[in-house]
Amino acid sequence: MRVSRLMLVTLRDDPAEAEIPSHKLLLRAGYIRRVGSGIYAYLPLLWRVLQKISTIVREELNATGALETLLPQLQPAELWQRSGRWAGYTDGEGIMFHLEDRQGRELGLGPTHEEVITALAGDLLRSYRQLPVNLYQIQTKFRDEIRPRFGLMRGREFIMKDAYSFHADEACLKQTYGAMDQAYRRIFSRCGLRAVAVEADSGAIGGSASQEFMVTADAGEDLILASSDRRYAANQERAVSRPADPVPLAGGPRAGGSGEPLATPGQTSIEQLCSAHGFDPSQTVKVLALLARFEDGCLQPLLISLRGDQQLNEVKLANAVSARCSAEHGTLLDIAPLTAEAANREGLAPLPFGFMGPHLSDAVLSGAASWTPRFLRLADGTATALETFVCGGNCGDTHLVAAAWGGIGPAPESLDLRSAQPGDRCQHDSTQLLEASRGIEVGHIFQLGRKYSAALEATFTNEAGQEEPLWMGCYGIGVSRLAQAAVEQHHDANGICWPTAIAPYEVIVVIANVAEEHQNQLGEQLYAELQSAGVDVLLDDRSERAGVKFKDADLLGIPWRVVVGRGAASGVVELVERATGEKREFPANTLQETLLARLLPERSGLLEASGP
Ligand code: ATP
Ligand code: MG
Repeated sequence: MRVSRLMLVTLRDDPAEAEIPSHKLLLRAGYIRRVGSGIYAYLPLLWRVLQKISTIVREELNATGALETLLPQLQPAELWQRSGRWAGYTDGEGIMFHLEDRQGRELGLGPTHEEVITALAGDLLRSYRQLPVNLYQIQTKFRDEIRPRFGLMRGREFIMKDAYSFHADEACLKQTYGAMDQAYRRIFSRCGLRAVAVEADSGAIGGSASQEFMVTADAGEDLILASSDRRYAANQERAVSRPADPVPLAGGPRAGGSGEPLATPGQTSIEQLCSAHGFDPSQTVKVLALLARFEDGCLQPLLISLRGDQQLNEVKLANAVSARCSAEHGTLLDIAPLTAEAANREGLAPLPFGFMGPHLSDAVLSGAASWTPRFLRLADGTATALETFVCGGNCGDTHLVAAAWGGIGPAPESLDLRSAQPGDRCQHDSTQLLEASRGIEVGHIFQLGRKYSAALEATFTNEAGQEEPLWMGCYGIGVSRLAQAAVEQHHDANGICWPTAIAPYEVIVVIANVAEEHQNQLGEQLYAELQSAGVDVLLDDRSERAGVKFKDADLLGIPWRVVVGRGAASGVVELVERATGEKREFPANTLQETLLARLLPERSGLLEASGP
């Protein structure tokens, strides 16, 4: 391809809309253009990158025996109603774009395809003899993200590879899950990415085991917690750890465990309370009042107790609340703080915000207009493990000192609701500490089990002649996010440094001065030769100054640059490696051999597999 025909428009300055390096560089180098919030045009250069990534994905998935397919993006609401996900995906913080057709029937634009594929599998897969089957597609997905940002990292329209496997039993599902894990490691490594596998929350997709693949980068939205021996790594949403030991409160329980009242005027936060009275936060129990909203309209007040030095993990909380309430009330739509204004609107007497204890009586909810008049009470294990503690006194400006469970009332149900933090001791080995790093989630694999097949009645006849729901797995890769993640991991002050395996072009031949006949001729000749040798080559034939062309070549990030300049008259060219900046002069007639020797191993791209 000739750069003069490439519609190339490069920008010298960072566009105001971009915050992170990869987003700035993709815009500046003419790979993408913003069309609307979270909506981008993939320009021809980026499209080549996406095609190369897709080819690697196809090769590795086909090698596992998976079959490529293409499913509709317009999906009838009815399918999502049968799986029980329509409300969760369209109401509240739901991310599905949805619409009505001219007959008034509701449709959603596919954010994911479990429903469509499970219904098909239920029709087509009748017997254990047809199993296992693994189907994948590479396609645009639509999600009305709450905060679209960072360009292709979190778009509202983006390209995903999604795969769904069907099995006669769980052992077979685990086998395919393992094979997909290996295929994913090869895919990321061939794309030139340093990726780690981490334990993950299964989120709205559901199911049991799941693992994410994270490209490590400072701009990543996810926090990864990993032990220094790398035997444990998890997304913070999911991570577990051993909490620090609490500082014991001197003396036993006071007032039979109901605690001694202490005047704490205006001390509504743990910090204020501790600094005024010399308590350690780990000696306190803090109580959070929240309100969970469900599909059937139920509004359930929550009272969550945590040790004062711990942070609530919202993902763990949402999972716990769903597990306890969704069978009766349908999908959990959101959990929000229970505010004084909301309580007031409900017609409740003022609640003791800032001074709440775990034993706050349900009587405070009596008279609620629409809320369930009982708290769902849950506690983190760090709070229930305290023998004595300081907590709110449930009336203004008062705390209780040396209260104890039993004394103030029974301990709430005890769960893991805390966020593991960097520096925490690991569960597998308490001499290991959790270390934090940031990651970009490029892939996610799930063992779904039978959640969707049971809901959509996708059954098969097993060896014993009985009907049972199919076992399922699902496996995603964010293809467009991956392309940008590669830039995030491979760039420098001058621009992108694409790994060869996914670079839009492998070589750029730059004719320093197109007005100079020797240069022009030799440039054209090398371009033609490299093309016929099967090299993806660009020819910068523009009548720009050499310096401008070199800057653009660096910005574009083509792995190898061949400069045809003054040496052309004597048949000498310069070869520059983008990533290292290393320069060497060559006789033009040995260039092809030298380049191919470097390109062949780079194309396969395999790095050492990483991750636990
Ligand atoms: P996230 O937690 O980042 O919102 P997710 O867990 O909702 O992602 P999955 O449903 O697991 O995403 O989708 C599979 C893959 O698709 C993700 O691993 C990610 O790489 C990619 N992906 C998800 N949402 C987006 C998006 N809005 N823009 C670009 N890629 C995305
Ligand atoms: Mg995910």
